[in-house]
Amino acid sequence: MYDVKSKVATEFIDHEEIMESLKYAEENKHNKELIDSILRRAKECKGISHREALVLLDCDLEEENHRIYELAKEIKQKFYGNRIVMFAPLYLSNYCVNGCTYCPYHYKNKHIRRKKLTQEEIRQEVIALQDMGHKRLALETGEDPVNNPIEYVLESIKTIYSIKHKNGAIRRVNVNIAATTVENYKKLKDAGIGTYILFQETYHKENYEKLHPTGPKHDYAYHTEAMDRAMEAGIDDVGIGVLFGLNMYRYDFVGLLMHAEHLEAAMGVGPHTISVPRVRPADDIDPDEFNNGISDDIFEKIVAVLRLAVPYTGIIISTRETKESRERVLKVGVSQISGGSRTSVGGYVEEESEEDNSAQFDTSDRRTLDEVLNWLLEMGYIPSFCTACYREGRTGDRFMKLVKSGQIANCCQPNALMTLKEYLEDYASEDTKAKGEKVIEAELKRITNPKVYETAKERMKKIAAGERDFRF
Ligand code: SF4
Ligand code: SF4
Repeated sequence: MYDVKSKVATEFIDHEEIMESLKYAEENKHNKELIDSILRRAKECKGISHREALVLLDCDLEEENHRIYELAKEIKQKFYGNRIVMFAPLYLSNYCVNGCTYCPYHYKNKHIRRKKLTQEEIRQEVIALQDMGHKRLALETGEDPVNNPIEYVLESIKTIYSIKHKNGAIRRVNVNIAATTVENYKKLKDAGIGTYILFQETYHKENYEKLHPTGPKHDYAYHTEAMDRAMEAGIDDVGIGVLFGLNMYRYDFVGLLMHAEHLEAAMGVGPHTISVPRVRPADDIDPDEFNNGISDDIFEKIVAVLRLAVPYTGIIISTRETKESRERVLKVGVSQISGGSRTSVGGYVEEESEEDNSAQFDTSDRRTLDEVLNWLLEMGYIPSFCTACYREGRTGDRFMKLVKSGQIANCCQPNALMTLKEYLEDYASEDTKAKGEKVIEAELKRITNPKVYETAKERMKKIAAGERDFRF
């Protein structure tokens, strides 16, 4: 029985409710009147329900689809302006005891080189990331209580925060590790993590169990209820996501939004971010097996409708996506992307050869961070390295209140520009620097609060003179 507030996975992600929603959307995908009324509600920027969102996703009326994309762009502009937050993944270890059939780190894969970074190797990786200009990381590691116990993750976070190389610093460490206990989540919270990220992969219980035949991840309930435990432990910012292409995308799309609704209803605050990865080729993975084909068109529509459904939630894409596909989704909703990523363990210090591969998946976008920034600037975006909120204690419902009232833009815009300025001073190529300075000049004028504008301008001069780490 569907109950959005229940703490039981199969009740807040109720299969019957999803099946009913799929049927409802199928029956109403040409219902112009209903679609128009959903769009009117979406325009209020308070979100729409999972059922309404699916009707929009399924809608195949040309004019209405055009309106969906236009509204997604409008909402994105309203909440995020031209800003795009940058981050990089850091793979600590690819030891894993799980048997996920779509991931090359599954324990039976004997071709892949197993590797776990020592603290000294982490230091080297972080220095390489700092030298690129990164300030925000997403830690990734397989699940293995012997090789990657929680103590190893905690020690690694401490190491990462402690490294100050030249003007570099990692100011926010987000963590993507396996579902764990409230006690361990408390330890992560105490270690000062930013967002705790865990992808559901698929919300379809039966398929989930088939895709995860062995290991602790097989337990659907334990995995699906992980965010409730993380929040119970005091982690305010959680990031959810599905791996599109593992299961039927309409089912997972509804499940994803039901999960977001559940966190808001039961824990008082919805997800901080939603990630939308798609299945990519990888070692020891049969590409034909995971071909639930999400075309670029559907992918773009998923992002646009998510933007309408959860206007306050950051949407993340990774370097799994090509440059072309990233361009499309940036316009309609994505607010955070990775750049210059390596998906192998130790890959920032030493790139691996084809034969000696420890990567989790192939990246489609292989450009350097500077190239990615240059491309973003050329399109008029502001690449942002801002990490201010979490460092100012603006997390969870405190953060959401500021976002919902629109006040957060008074912080995001100047912070984006100041962190971009730091990048231009410390790491940019000549061409990127020239483009960046122009964007800063134009975008500073869009700061509407006169006091904030003056302070931001003053701080720009200080950054040029060598000072760092200002924030609103
Ligand atoms: Fe391990 Fe995660 Fe890969 Fe599954 S998806 S095999 S848990 S690293
Ligand atoms: Fe994100 Fe807060 Fe920075 Fe805005 S001010 S970009 S919400 S960290």
